[in-house]
Amino acid sequence: MTIQESQAPSDLPATAARGQLFINGEWRPSADGATTAVINPGTGEQVETVAAATTQDIDAAVAAAKAAFEDGRWSRLSGRERSRVLNKASALMRERSEELALAESTDVGKPITFARVVDVATAADQYEYVAALAQQLDGSVRETPLKAHAYTKKEALGVVAAITPFNFPLILSSTKIAAALAAGNSVVHKPASDTPLSALLMAEILTEAGVPAGVINVVTGSGGALGDHLVAHPDVNKVAFTGSTEIGRHVAALAGQHLRPVTAELGGNAANIVFADADLEKAIGTVISAFVFNSGQFCMGGPRLLVERPIYDTILGILKDAVAGVPVGDPTNPETVMGPLASRKQLEKVAGYVEAARAAGGQIITGGEELNINGGFFYAPTVIAGLDNSSPAVREEIFGPVLTVQPFDTEEEAIEMANSTPYGLASGVQTSSISRAHRVSSRLEAGIVWVNSWALLDPAVPFGGVKDSGWGREYGPEALESYTRTKSVIIATD
Ligand code: NAP
Repeated sequence: MTIQESQAPSDLPATAARGQLFINGEWRPSADGATTAVINPGTGEQVETVAAATTQDIDAAVAAAKAAFEDGRWSRLSGRERSRVLNKASALMRERSEELALAESTDVGKPITFARVVDVATAADQYEYVAALAQQLDGSVRETPLKAHAYTKKEALGVVAAITPFNFPLILSSTKIAAALAAGNSVVHKPASDTPLSALLMAEILTEAGVPAGVINVVTGSGGALGDHLVAHPDVNKVAFTGSTEIGRHVAALAGQHLRPVTAELGGNAANIVFADADLEKAIGTVISAFVFNSGQFCMGGPRLLVERPIYDTILGILKDAVAGVPVGDPTNPETVMGPLASRKQLEKVAGYVEAARAAGGQIITGGEELNINGGFFYAPTVIAGLDNSSPAVREEIFGPVLTVQPFDTEEEAIEMANSTPYGLASGVQTSSISRAHRVSSRLEAGIVWVNSWALLDPAVPFGGVKDSGWGREYGPEALESYTRTKSVIIATD
């Protein structure tokens, strides 16, 4: 691969957030004053310090959110008033795009170019999209034989606990916060410990846009120490969780005990099926971006490539050269396509899977090694052939820049292989046959299927998982449904 040189380091944006939590419209230290370091995965060095919240801070944040919800400072504004504020937040995000992109790139190791055009732009789009929906939270009149006027209303739920993972911090914080606020809820947000910076900037931006004190609260700290307390808190009315299947299962069980609605956007391990009739040049581009984008730390990435046998050797040959040419290196270099893994833990996990696959007889077509770049957590984009469906590298979610490649002989076999893991978040079909595209898409067990593409996402189009990838949908009008409840009103007319 091509190694991208370092660029001059840029300073992170100055923010009131340094070492502080955002509770009830104010920056404050955690109750015991504890902090944790934020590491730049591109260099392995500490770049920032954030507060490590305690359960007391969670209580304060939930109390602030509840008080704000109950006095109606946000929940009883009209949809149009909320919409104006959310649109302003979107505009401010675009104005502060460079700051947000730099925070995201430094925190996660994302190439700065993608942080700008994907992460910041998508997050701003979400606020804009739900701002429109906030004005359309309509109920309906119901025709009944009762001597009564019956209608339904959509109501906000109350306090939403929003918990997000490390890989797309800004987009995932925004997905939850924007939809929850559009419907009139208050939010307590806990971002991932490894990547908390953009959530703190988001609190600043929302406040500047006009979201009242207490409506948005951001508590940074360890999910292990705080998560159960937040999820089970008696004043939390909904849990919106994105993260691993393991933690999601635990969160959903705990929320279930308290009869609390929960959306769970969990792990993925998608198959990308390339038929021999596909446009190969286009398909190869799709295959590579589906596993190197965000260093493979992409729940909807395509780490399992299934190739129809007549083109199997050709595809392996093309991948060997093309993947070796992916520009990997310093995320602040605009030419970089793939940066580091987000943490040392993630790097070690990826290396462990590749070594186990190698030991089990997998052929490393390219990659298969850590890269010594600037002291960061880099791993070469890796292609492995010769593994079967029972291999952990095929079955489990590696969450790194690793592609396994397997041949298939029939359409039926491809569908069976694609559906053979416990996950069901996304899937892909590369073919020039329109009937095959429909036929195969309808049989794939996945919340979203991309045909002749990968990772086309838009705030208007819902996504979410089936099977162990969770339940609930984000994006689209469906997202707002999960942040509201329906009330029926029946007024006697005689
Ligand atoms: P994770 O370990 O499950 O953590 C997710 C969040 O849960 C973090 O904020 C974490 O805090 C917190 N947490 C940990 N223990 C908790 C507990 N007992 N109660 C409540 N919250 C708790 O996931 P991750 O490693 O950050 O992210 C990678 C995973 O997310 C992958 O499996 C990926 O597929 C999935 N993901 C899914 C989607 C989707 O839309 N379906 C999108 C992105 C990522 P700490 O960071 O402090 O541990």
